[in-house]
Formats: sequence, C-alpha cells, structure tokens
Amino acid sequence: MKKLLTLALAAALCCPFFNTAFADEFVQNADTTVRVEKPAAPVNASNATFTGAVKHLSLFGTTDETTYTGSYVIFSPGSRSFWHTHPGGQRLIVVKGTLWTCTWNGEKTIAHEGDSVWCPVGVKHWHGAPHDEECVQMTLTEVRSGQNVTWMEPVTDEQYNAK
Ligand code: MN
Repeated sequence: MKKLLTLALAAALCCPFFNTAFADEFVQNADTTVRVEKPAAPVNASNATFTGAVKHLSLFGTTDETTYTGSYVIFSPGSRSFWHTHPGGQRLIVVKGTLWTCTWNGEKTIAHEGDSVWCPVGVKHWHGAPHDEECVQMTLTEVRSGQNVTWMEPVTDEQYNAK
C-alpha cells in the first residue's frame, strides 16, 4: 500500500496531467457513498402469485454495480407462493419461523430461523409457511435479462399438504 501511494505521488509530481486525469476518472467511475436505505412499506403480495395472506417489503433493486434484488417476504400460517423458477437462482435467509421450499420432484426442504436456502437456476419450486407458524424470509435474487422470477401456476392444497 505504501509503495502504491509512493508511486502515485511520484507520478502525480512528475506529470501534473496524471493527477487530474486520475482524479476525474476516480470520481466518474466509483460510487463512494456509503448509505443506509430503508425497506419499502409493506404491501400485500399479489394473489396472482401468492395464496393466502403474504406481505412483501422491497429492500433494494439492482444498481450499476450489482445484479441482485433484496426483499422481505412475510408468510402468514398456511400461505405460500405459486410455483416459479429463478433465471439466476435465489438465496433465502430465514429471519423468523420455519420456511418450506418444495421442488417439482416433490421434495420438501424445511429451513429454520438463521438458516439460508439456495434455490438453483431454473428449478421449479414454491416457498411457504407451515399451517401453524408465520415465516419471515429475506430474499437475495439474481436478475438475468431484467427478470428475477418466472411465475407459474398456483400450488394446490394437495401439493401444499404433501409430506
Ligand atoms: Mn423462489
């Protein structure tokens, strides 16, 4: 680090143009502001993509430097998403309660508070809360070609209740 600073200083002293060009490029290319962003107000998740009472709070979208979105999803007991896939996969963190994630092959994965879940690219699945417990999940979802999810059909009661 010291060597780099010495080199930069030497270059700046030797060549006044370097100093200006370097500073300009740095300012143009780097977002140097650390910032705190509050979540959006909770909204009722659409009944075109969720079954039961589900709330959604957007945390952040993509930026020039990042390609993933973040949100909280609050599932009331017995609620669940429709079937869907993620074009770039999805990372879930269970903030509260128990989260069910089921894949098209009938496998039910159960995650508890503090656990994280990886949903692979293109695998058809749904998420939901058990019958008797609320679940809060944080989602980090990769965006590909402007999309982070492809929604499909509702999860039937039979599919929800399957072991
Ligand atoms: Mn998902």
